[in-house]
Amino acid sequence: MPNSVFEEVNLFFDAAADRLGLEDGLRQMLKRPWRELLVQVPVRMDDGRVNVFNGFRVQHNGARGPYKGGVRFHPNADLEEVRALASLMTWKTALAGLPYGGAKGGVQVDPGQLSTGELNRLTRRYTQNIEHLIGPNRDIPAPDLGTNAQTMAWMMDAYGLSNGHSPAVVTGKPVEMGGSLGRQSATGRGVSYVLSSVSEDLKLDPSKTRVAIQGFGNVGFWAAKLIEEMGYIVTAVSGVDGGAYNSKGIDVKSLGEHQENTGGISGFTGGEPISNQELLELECDVLIPAAIDNVITEDNASLVQASLILEAANHPITPEADQLLNERKVLILPDILVNAGGVIVSYFEWTQNLQEFRWEEERVNQELKKTILRSYQEVRDRTGGGLITPRSASFQIGVERVAHVVQLRGFV
Ligand code: NAD
Repeated sequence: MPNSVFEEVNLFFDAAADRLGLEDGLRQMLKRPWRELLVQVPVRMDDGRVNVFNGFRVQHNGARGPYKGGVRFHPNADLEEVRALASLMTWKTALAGLPYGGAKGGVQVDPGQLSTGELNRLTRRYTQNIEHLIGPNRDIPAPDLGTNAQTMAWMMDAYGLSNGHSPAVVTGKPVEMGGSLGRQSATGRGVSYVLSSVSEDLKLDPSKTRVAIQGFGNVGFWAAKLIEEMGYIVTAVSGVDGGAYNSKGIDVKSLGEHQENTGGISGFTGGEPISNQELLELECDVLIPAAIDNVITEDNASLVQASLILEAANHPITPEADQLLNERKVLILPDILVNAGGVIVSYFEWTQNLQEFRWEEERVNQELKKTILRSYQEVRDRTGGGLITPRSASFQIGVERVAHVVQLRGFV
């Protein structure tokens, strides 16, 4: 039994490495992070006290290019979680064919409990403490759970104080500071493109397809909005404070406005209240976890009624639950394929920054579609018509690409 989320992700890696017949030394090198940094992040709070938070940056693998990965502000962020997320970035960027390695950062903090000033100070101190590891050609952070474009603006500013104007050091910045048009919606848009393609393959009629989405933040909101626009029925959505269900479809725009005004989903009158757990177990056709990791476990896997799951969040399904769902022939499209839209458009943002050039949003969306659907087709082809799962296929492609470059570079 794995003891941590990193060990869980490595079960997926091991299965791919076995299948690819990787020799032991190479396997060890690919599995373990290349470099890890733990920092303390002292912050002067508004009331004058000093609070000291734990911060992390894990650079998992840099064979294919600069390290790339988000920064998470969450009370549960710890070294094992950040390692797991960093390794997923390595396989994700390789699967998407991007010239990047994989990394992740985090600070153990509940951002909802901090004022804007406190968050600004925390972000700057964290950036200063990891500054010697990051840079446009070294390691490029981006937003993740609990962070956003504002966080990236503070990071870019803090890094720029000693390194000069460096927009390419972070992605997911505000557009006014060199962010890419289309970056905010990119992960959710990628999810919608993948859903549209798998629906064609499975011959699903969007107007009869009920979709439940857990998470209504950056990823969940845009996924819900775009999926609704494509004609699917988004019957349920939830956030940390609970969710809403409407068999005829939630009005995503009104729910977005409600969340904007009240800070959450509870109290929304366009649907019945449901809990996060109930959402996962709802009668629906497609389930999209788009919040946090480990929400579908061996305890609730048998209660999931959807026949198709798109992992918009990172690692929302434990390996035990994955196995149970596979046995029930539930089709699972994995995180490293489904939520790659964010890092794909981050790549476009980085290239625009390096060239001091801006793309039109239409071009960003078109290139995103082309890139993520190429990955989808590669994964579908690799499954050999159902001989292996899309998760196995995705990990095999990612691991194979990284292993190949490690060998070309002559590391082993
Ligand atoms: P976010 O902070 O914008 O939104 C998170 C959402 O999850 C919110 O609706 C919040 O209410 C909800 N949530 C938080 N804790 C919860 C809990 N315990 N139970 C149920 N819901 C909870 O974050 P995001 O950027 O939308 O990221 C969501 C997921 O997608 C994460 O797993 C992240 O790693 C992954 N992801 C994000 C991106 C990106 O571009 N933002 C890219 C790839 C993957």
